[in-house]
Amino acid sequence: MTRLIDIGVKPFLVASSARALMAQRLVRRVCRRCGSSYVPTEAELRALNIDPSNTAKATFMKGKGCNECNKTGYRGRFGIFEVFVVDDEIRKLIYDKVSSSELRSRAREMGMRTLREDGARKVLAGLTSPEEVIRATLGDLE
Ligand SMILES: [Zn+2]
Repeated sequence: MTRLIDIGVKPFLVASSARALMAQRLVRRVCRRCGSSYVPTEAELRALNIDPSNTAKATFMKGKGCNECNKTGYRGRFGIFEVFVVDDEIRKLIYDKVSSSELRSRAREMGMRTLREDGARKVLAGLTSPEEVIRATLGDLE
């Protein structure tokens, strides 16, 4: 949102025409051939803000590396997403030219799931590793 304004799009145009904005990042999928379940470290759980008591039903996966995945432990990619919904309140904040961090924190209060949170869900589903999501979202604002 703020990037659009930064590159010269008028705030009122962004606010009046955008319904939602989506950020996407690609993460590597754990190799289906050599991937196996493992127990994540406390640091990995903490970095992804996963409550250890929520991991009972989750299967954390990691690839050992095989010929199929060029010894990387990953094969293929998929997206993690963050959807910023522009509702009336957000629209007003944009007109009022509040900072991007204020926009972000308001969107978070309204339930926006961040890239890292979406990644954490996909880690819990065994699609990718904690390490991969942490790497892909390094430097993101919480
Ligand atoms: Zn493999």
